[in-house]
Amino acid sequence: MAKKLPSTPIYETGLDKTAANYQPLTPLSFLDWAARVYPDRTAVIHGPYRSTWRAVDQRCKRLATALMKLGIGKGDTVSIMSPNAPAMLEAHYGVPMSGAVLNSLNYRLDADTIAFILGHAETKVLITDREFSGVISDALAIHGDTDITVIDVDDPLAEGGRLIGDMTYETFLESGDPDFEWQPPEDEWQAICLNYTSGTTGNPKGVVYHHRGAFLNALGNALVFRLGRESVYLWTLPMFHCNGWSYPWAVTSVGGTHVCLRKIDPGLIFPLIAEHGVTHMCGAPIVLNMLVHAPDSVKRKFEHRIEVATGGAAPPSAVIAKMGAMGFNVTHLYGLTESYGPSTVCAWQDEWDGLDIDAKALKMSRQGVRYPTLYDQSVRDPETMQPVPDDGETIGEIMLKSNTVMKGYLKNPKATEAAFRGGWFHTGDLAVQHADGYLEIKDRSKDIIISGGENISSLEIEECLYRHPGVMECAVVAMPDDKWGEVPCAFVTPIAAAEGMLSGKDLIDWCKDRIARYKAPARVVFGPLPKTSTGKIQKFVLREQAKELTKK
Ligand code: ADP
Repeated sequence: MAKKLPSTPIYETGLDKTAANYQPLTPLSFLDWAARVYPDRTAVIHGPYRSTWRAVDQRCKRLATALMKLGIGKGDTVSIMSPNAPAMLEAHYGVPMSGAVLNSLNYRLDADTIAFILGHAETKVLITDREFSGVISDALAIHGDTDITVIDVDDPLAEGGRLIGDMTYETFLESGDPDFEWQPPEDEWQAICLNYTSGTTGNPKGVVYHHRGAFLNALGNALVFRLGRESVYLWTLPMFHCNGWSYPWAVTSVGGTHVCLRKIDPGLIFPLIAEHGVTHMCGAPIVLNMLVHAPDSVKRKFEHRIEVATGGAAPPSAVIAKMGAMGFNVTHLYGLTESYGPSTVCAWQDEWDGLDIDAKALKMSRQGVRYPTLYDQSVRDPETMQPVPDDGETIGEIMLKSNTVMKGYLKNPKATEAAFRGGWFHTGDLAVQHADGYLEIKDRSKDIIISGGENISSLEIEECLYRHPGVMECAVVAMPDDKWGEVPCAFVTPIAAAEGMLSGKDLIDWCKDRIARYKAPARVVFGPLPKTSTGKIQKFVLREQAKELTKK
């Protein structure tokens, strides 16, 4: 018989949460740590510019207090338009130290969209790099609100542009206090950042991050990507994109070094890796592809192995394999703006060591398992909310549940409610669950091709096309078809050497030999592919083109 259970809860110590045993989590504390532990180490490199952790800390405190003197505080929005330059990194600390929310603008957006964002976010201060003065002036004119304080970053490495603001960033910092004793937010649920998703249809949605989520995802990154004090991180990923997947905080959390980079150009990337001994970098698969296809005169051989994390779109296994051959160790991440960047990693298994390079790359092209900081992920039927069987075949929607999922969409309760229905965050990505626990994306909901009632994954066809030696880049979309409803249409950019030599029939036959025949593209169109500002191929543009083709 069971013994009598104790009637008093023995783990109640009688002490409530106090300042001594409970503090709001915030990634701002990483900067304080780095400045105390490594005050004199190089924190930031930007062309010839060097800054120590002590100096970065002081500049961020100046930025915070200068903003506060303008009346900026909790709940206000400070927007920034900047490439991967020191001011952008500093804004990730200085803006939230003042209590405000950082809104990073995508520098490839047009003036109308920027004007929409400035209005929707109710921006009070706008920090802008001089190179973007043209589009920002236009956006401000469309927005029409002259109450926004505009601060120019006059980066010596900027190409062109002019000063359009009320003062320069450096003058602004002078008005601040380098010894500011900032306080963490009272509540870690307080907003820290606002990021607009690209909004391929309709207006973009503003994704709101909180301090707690940013803290946790930064640490998740540091763990998964094995960052340490000796890490030298090259900024090949735009910092405006989900706050650089939380890496402005992750790299700082270990006291590593940030190497800034204004333009994603292999002609700059290879020399910077060599010069600074870069150990880590991130980028969309398109960036990897740029490195793979860089001219030999630009490519360098390195003594050390470089860790590169890729995500944001599915990396074809052929690209992973070629990067490996060039001395880069690829880690595949998956995530989205709503999950502070990466939520999922294709974690390496020892058994994969023995596989040949192509088999390894195939394993690695799966999106994988949850970050250790992600509470849960699951592939579920969005109607019944039941998990799909782990058969590697049944398609469902990837759903997340975590402290590292956004607070919600700004001023958009309808979209927020829809995204969180049924107690999970709905990603809109379609995937299968493999028996080993790894998930694999088949498509975004809107990209799946439905042909004769069968689902065809555009990614599966792209994966096959990428293995053709003449293909540099490709994208497959649905093309309307009288008989089948939809058929796959492939858009292909050949490698320079194959230009004019490769026919659509070659590629269709290539696919028919390797995947189910009905999945082979019905048509192949050659030419450059339209891309978004974050390096993703704009499938909606191609879908329109495919539709036009059927009319001809
Ligand atoms: P958007 O592309 O709409 O601007 P995000 O930048 O948040 O928004 O992109 C997130 C989306 O990118 C995911 O929902 C998914 O469709 C795609 N994605 C991200 N990582 C991967 C990956 N590793 N493999 C395939 N798709 C990915």
